[in-house]
Amino acid sequence: MIYETGSSIVQEESMHELSIAASIVEAVTESASAYPGARVIAVRLRVGALASVIEDSLQFCWELASEGSPLAGAKLVIKKLPVIIHCDACSADSEIEGVQSFRCPRCGELAADLRQGRELEIESIELEEPEPNESKPAELELDAPDPVEEKI
Ligand SMILES: [Zn+2]
Repeated sequence: MIYETGSSIVQEESMHELSIAASIVEAVTESASAYPGARVIAVRLRVGALASVIEDSLQFCWELASEGSPLAGAKLVIKKLPVIIHCDACSADSEIEGVQSFRCPRCGELAADLRQGRELEIESIELEEPEPNESKPAELELDAPDPVEEKI
């Protein structure tokens, strides 16, 4: 099942990947607590091209931050979002290739109206629900250990 969250991570000026990862772990753990017993398989993240997040670094930090938490082993799926600007001259939204220049690809006008590109949000969490009929109380059949004879 997919749990839609759409929650944004508040990114501070000096925030680096480890603190971002820790924030994600915190937010996801809180969201997932609504489903006791469910295991988080994957966390889908939307990251804008201008969010200044280094993907490899975030993946690495994710493993560090999730280790030892209920999210250990969960996959971090990063969806990169291109920068989209709005041009007044064309009154159109356009995706721009690089982040060096914010010029409308249609007419070349400078367009500072950013419509997408700074996102850093948890899009959804993939959970594996516990199967209700999975309890097998009597399955464990251990041979009774041999009695230890005390030899004197
Ligand atoms: Zn234009």
